[in-house]
Amino acid sequence: MNAELGTIAGRVRAVLDEMQRAAARAGRLPESVRLIAASKTVSVERLRQAVDAGVRHLGENRLQEALPKIDTLEREGVVWHFIGTLQRRKVRSVVGRFETIHSVDSLALAEEIDRQAKTAGLRQRVLLEVNLAGEVSKGGFEPTTLVAALESLNGFEHLDIRGLMAIPPPTPTAEDARPYFRQLRTLAQALTARGYRNINMQELSMGMSHDYPVAIEEGATYVRVGTAIFGARGE
Ligand SMILES: *Cc1c(COP(=O)(O)O)cnc(C)c1O
Repeated sequence: MNAELGTIAGRVRAVLDEMQRAAARAGRLPESVRLIAASKTVSVERLRQAVDAGVRHLGENRLQEALPKIDTLEREGVVWHFIGTLQRRKVRSVVGRFETIHSVDSLALAEEIDRQAKTAGLRQRVLLEVNLAGEVSKGGFEPTTLVAALESLNGFEHLDIRGLMAIPPPTPTAEDARPYFRQLRTLAQALTARGYRNINMQELSMGMSHDYPVAIEEGATYVRVGTAIFGARGE
């Protein structure tokens, strides 16, 4: 094994290299894809190593876990993303603290974010989470209900809707995830074509440790990578 891969810094460099190669294969500019280090259960000391190695975006799943990390890394210029399931009663504390909420999975949640963003006097950047395979265990808009929800979503003036996010069902190989990534990209195009003024679909948050190169080939603008940087989580 490459000794470099024994360190967080080495693994960050390996992921960034792999991202560049995937972008090149797809004829895309490397800067059109950003790495979000998915940092749930990872200590702030280890996060700092990733940041020192060039990671700028961190993605957290739980507010309670994220808050002390946000405080401790305050001077590091980290851009924070909320990528986990968000409960409505937590929205008030999330709005304004995270640059982008990737996991808006219902109209009710969108409405609450809009309300709290209005109170805070800001526009919250969000992505809409899509449940591509109709998995009952997972949240997210079904593609067809998303089309129907657009009219309401377009009316939320304090939401800055930037695109879509998906976590496809587990697949035996990365290549098997490709149809899901392609489906998300096609859906974003279809939603854009409807021409709603407040709905912008330029961001696609898709791809994790085992399949991010394929996601980039299919148009990901954010990949969310945990294990490939920090190692297996002791869950
Ligand atoms: C944990 C997590 C990831 C990263 O998963 P890995 O397989 O460890 O890369 C990405 N997205 C979300 C929403 C996550 O919770």
